[in-house]
Amino acid sequence: MSAAAALSLDDWKSRAAGLSHRGQAFIDGDYVDAQSGETFDCVNPANGQVLTAIAACEAADVDRAVAAARRAFDDGRWSDLPPVVRKKKLLRFAELILQHKEELALLETLDMGKPISDSLAIDIPAAAKCIAWYAETADKTYDEIAPTGPSVLGLITREPLGVVAAVVPWNFPLLMAAWKIGPALATGNTMIVKPAEQSPLTALRIAELATEAGIPDGVFNVVPGFGETAGRALGLHMDVDCVTFTGSIEVAKMFLKYAGESNMKRVSCECGGKTPNIIMSDCPDLDAAAKAAAFGIFFNQGEVCNAGSRLLVEADIKDRVLEKIEQVAQKMQPGEPLDPRTKMGAIVDQTQLDRVLGYIEAGKEGGAELKFGGRRARADSGGYYVEPTVFDNVDSRMKIAQEEIFGPVLSTITFKDADDAVRIGNETIYGLAAAVWTRDLGKAHKTARRLRAGTVWINCFDNDDITVPFGGFKESGFGRDKSLHALEKYVQLKTTWINLDA
Ligand code: NAD
Repeated sequence: MSAAAALSLDDWKSRAAGLSHRGQAFIDGDYVDAQSGETFDCVNPANGQVLTAIAACEAADVDRAVAAARRAFDDGRWSDLPPVVRKKKLLRFAELILQHKEELALLETLDMGKPISDSLAIDIPAAAKCIAWYAETADKTYDEIAPTGPSVLGLITREPLGVVAAVVPWNFPLLMAAWKIGPALATGNTMIVKPAEQSPLTALRIAELATEAGIPDGVFNVVPGFGETAGRALGLHMDVDCVTFTGSIEVAKMFLKYAGESNMKRVSCECGGKTPNIIMSDCPDLDAAAKAAAFGIFFNQGEVCNAGSRLLVEADIKDRVLEKIEQVAQKMQPGEPLDPRTKMGAIVDQTQLDRVLGYIEAGKEGGAELKFGGRRARADSGGYYVEPTVFDNVDSRMKIAQEEIFGPVLSTITFKDADDAVRIGNETIYGLAAAVWTRDLGKAHKTARRLRAGTVWINCFDNDDITVPFGGFKESGFGRDKSLHALEKYVQLKTTWINLDA
């Protein structure tokens, strides 16, 4: 057992009490206040108490960060380094993140309410792994020579875009940032991370680790602040070359507009989902499917873009599946996030709590049958907790089956056959992910092909690896994070045509 795994609730609480927080922006290698001097409260969703004050950056601060990133890009202090040197610095950055795993996991849990055991085992190691994996691509990616004929040398080279702004959400704060940081920096860009206002702490803390790793000043900047101010200023900035966004559809559409209203910067959007988890009667392992269905919606309090929020199940096995899901849910009742035994923590803030409870009311009013859960939990703590909740007899056109709830709320819908499952599965504006459980390989493949989703899992749910792309069809967005394909978002192609007969 590792030292961290052995830490008790009291150990984590005493570490939390001794933590100091970075609340200032990180621009050009220094921590600085917002120019206005304004701050906003960073609240612990486990108890509603203020953790620290965060710099409320606005357009003036964004200007400063973009100017620093532009200078750092233009003078080549990063993009002109030999790729092997960039690789080594990024590997060191990843190593330092891992070395500070316990502190970063604690910050993540205090900031957004997820269980400490998940922050420690999943979020922080996966973020470090992602940066290390992309570091390795820096000196292993080759360019191309076009098949133009003997008198010409046609070079096709990949060049960094310049200044990249990464605007990220609060559900996996460091990991979502890492999915952008790894490929953007490995390809030689400079960048500005705008963490969500609900969860800025880990991005701000790793900024100094970047400096310690030898990443030059101005290459990696972090500007905390609200979406409507700091986020908008990045979207509209004439000197930002690319916005790589993860968040809601509503805000993604704003970034597309901002680009049109400013410099046509490249925008990629990773948005939400309403994942259909389709369990057929011939599912090879009903226990495994039900367990995966429960984790698929209750993990991370249901605040997961690809959460399996729609359970599509054949009528003859539905009761057995729901019974097993309830058994798992009993063991996942919300608890204090710092307790290592907790499997489900707090919802990120009061706004999101109200939103989730509002959807539960809408489900009841819409005629769905509340099977279990449905209430706020642990209200005495001052924090924002919701019971694992399952609705049965949901019609696919109901609000709870159509809209992303982003909470631990499952909608159960029955289907007649594979065609019906595909029809219902595709019947939302989303297309991030889907899953199919069947022992019939042909049916599995045919169903997977017809589901309009960026990822389809067969006989599993939410399995992943940095080597495969992740992103959406339809309004779940475009562009892909993870895998070698993500590199394409951060480079542009240049043709150099050389006349060999001159
Ligand atoms: P959000 O869209 O509200 O916020 C995302 C980011 O955009 C934040 O940094 C926020 O400050 C900024 N922002 C908000 N309003 C803005 C504005 N007017 N102008 C510019 N920037 C603005 O999303 P959220 O609530 O933080 O995250 C939840 C959403 O993220 C869900 O829809 C979820 O599915 C999605 N998500 C998608 C993926 C994926 O990989 N596809 C991963 C995680 C989360």
